[in-house]
Amino acid sequence: MNILDLSCVNDIRNISRLIFKKGWGEANGGNISIRIPADEINLCKNQFVRGDEVKLPYTMPGIAGEYFLVTGTGVFFRHIYDSPEESLGIVQLNETGDAYTPVWGYTTGGRPTSELSSHLLSHEVRKEISNGQNRIILHTHATNLIAMSFVLPLKAEIVTRELWEMMSECLVLFPEGVGVLDWMMPGKSEIGYATAELMKAHRLVLWAHHGIFAAGVSMDQAFGLIETADKAAEMLLKVMAAGGKQQAISAEQLQQLADAFNVVPLKEALY
Ligand SMILES: [Zn+2]
Repeated sequence: MNILDLSCVNDIRNISRLIFKKGWGEANGGNISIRIPADEINLCKNQFVRGDEVKLPYTMPGIAGEYFLVTGTGVFFRHIYDSPEESLGIVQLNETGDAYTPVWGYTTGGRPTSELSSHLLSHEVRKEISNGQNRIILHTHATNLIAMSFVLPLKAEIVTRELWEMMSECLVLFPEGVGVLDWMMPGKSEIGYATAELMKAHRLVLWAHHGIFAAGVSMDQAFGLIETADKAAEMLLKVMAAGGKQQAISAEQLQQLADAFNVVPLKEALY
C-alpha cells in the first residue's frame, strides 16, 4: 500500500486544509501528530528509508518503538494537502524512547515540528490514560480561544466554567475541562513537559496567547473538541462585548446536564 493512501495521511491532509480555511493555520502556525497503528505501519514498511537517528533530551518508555506521522517544522498548513511528502514525515522512536529516526517523508530535507516535545510527551501520557485509544495530538492557533486568554484569569476552573456556560454541548464534550498554561516559550522541552502534565487530566490544553492543544482517538474527535471550545469562546467574547452576561446556565443545571449524559464534570469548575 502506498503511504499516501494511509488513512492517517489523509486525515492530516484534510484537516490541515480545513484548519487553514478557518484561519487557524496562518503561515507555519500549528502542528499535528498521529501515533500510527501497527496494522497500518505493516502495510507500508517496505517503502521506508531510514535516516539518521536524532537524540531527544527526554525519555519516553511508554511510546518506545512506536511510529508517528508528524507535520514538518516550518510547514505551512495551506501547502500540506498538495505536498504531503514534503510537508509530512514518519518517525520511529527507538527502543528506549529517547531518540527518533525518520523513515519516510520530509523529502526536501525537513524534520519534525519544533513542538515535537509537546507532541511526543503528550502522546505518552494520553496513550497510558486512554489504554492506547488516543492517537492524535493537534495543535492550532484557534482565534477565539487565543483572544479569550487575554481577558479571562488563566485558571482551568474559570476558563472551563465560562466555556461550559456558553453551550450545553461543551460540558458533555469536555467534562474534564480545559487545562490552562501561562505563556511559555514555544518549541522547548519545558512547554512539552508542562503540556503533558496537564494532558494527564485534560484532552484540551490552552496555551495562553498562543493556541490550543487537543488529544483524541480520532482526528474528528480532536478537531471537534477544538471547534466546539473555540465557538464557545467566540460567543463568550460576543457576550462580553455586548455588555456581559445577564443570565447563564447555573452550576446546578450544569450538574444536571452531567448526570443526564453520564459524565463526570471537573468539580472545581462547578463553583
Ligand atoms: Zn503554535
